[in-house]
Amino acid sequence: MRLITASSIHDGQKWMPSGTTLAVTDEGIITDILDTPTEHTIRYDGVLCPGFVNVHCHLELSHMKGVAAEGTGLIPFLKNIPQYRNNYTTEQKQEARHTAFENMLQNGVVAVGDIANTDDTKDLRTLGKMHFQTFVEALGFADSGAERSMGYATATYASFAKQSINAKQLKQSIVPHAPYSVSRSLFRLINEHSPSGIISIHNQESEEENKYYYNKSGLVNDLLQSLKIDDSSFVPTGKRSLASYMPLLSPEHRLVLVHNTYSNLQDIEFAVQHSGNVHWCLCPNANLYIENRLPDIDMLVKAGVNLCVGTDSLASNHQLSIMAELATIKKYYPALSWETLLTWGTNNGAQALQLTDVVGSIATGRKPGILHITHIDSSKPAVKRIA
Ligand SMILES: [Zn+2]
Repeated sequence: MRLITASSIHDGQKWMPSGTTLAVTDEGIITDILDTPTEHTIRYDGVLCPGFVNVHCHLELSHMKGVAAEGTGLIPFLKNIPQYRNNYTTEQKQEARHTAFENMLQNGVVAVGDIANTDDTKDLRTLGKMHFQTFVEALGFADSGAERSMGYATATYASFAKQSINAKQLKQSIVPHAPYSVSRSLFRLINEHSPSGIISIHNQESEEENKYYYNKSGLVNDLLQSLKIDDSSFVPTGKRSLASYMPLLSPEHRLVLVHNTYSNLQDIEFAVQHSGNVHWCLCPNANLYIENRLPDIDMLVKAGVNLCVGTDSLASNHQLSIMAELATIKKYYPALSWETLLTWGTNNGAQALQLTDVVGSIATGRKPGILHITHIDSSKPAVKRIA
């Protein structure tokens, strides 16, 4: 048992009163919270907070680190993915994802929302070192291929589900990749698969997505044509993408919208009207890598939506670190307080992944993983897990 305190302690939602002292067991369980330190208390300079929650990652793409050029825009980036993702041996992929996973642990992440197109990441889930919400991604834009796409996703889902029978920290659901890669029929099948499952989707990562929904024009249209994908069943809606696809998903699902780089106030109002269960996930370093642009975070904050943070994959990021994402947001939006930003990186992420009963808060009886952050206002804050 240790007693610990720090210059500042964040409980996942707010700063705790000065002098707050945590009693923590060797296993990391918080057994008591005291108002003042005792003579046996260890004092840390800097910040203590709960472990980070990375709401959006693709650990299975870790071998693609540095492959894609920066600043090309989303559509040229996507063209590169199929070309490169299978250009590696099983061993190379395995080594890369284990290295990335260990780095993510060292960066203080305790829970992850991880996109999967294959069941490659089963080996990481069984290590028991992190809470996993695996999002098995379904893809297919030809309406006629919906059953086949869903069949493949369901088989992958079953492979993950087998692991989670006796492991509380492992969950999974089937989710759509993006509005321009999933047909209406496939949206319906995904929606019906698990009525209470969490759904995550890459949302408005490029303005081209909105253009395509308006009138079937722009680079998304060019991409689908060049890949010879049958888009004959797609009828442009004359609306923005979010207003077009969201009605296909039941508001019973917790919905995690990822990126939102080109979302506007109209989109937020539509989402709020459609469902009270929407979480907006920011991946700023990936947005800068791919589109060299950030979402309008001031607008999202003013609208009062739930914000959380993800890293995306090493194909579009230099590291898998929530601290690095928060530091980027702070750099571009200096008026946002660390109290708010740490909430996004911890408790809000736990809410998005329905994990608030296990991670994301400092409270008696919890085992959230406790992080020690130093030099928080520098360009590279340091994070160390101390419990
Ligand atoms: Zn992604």
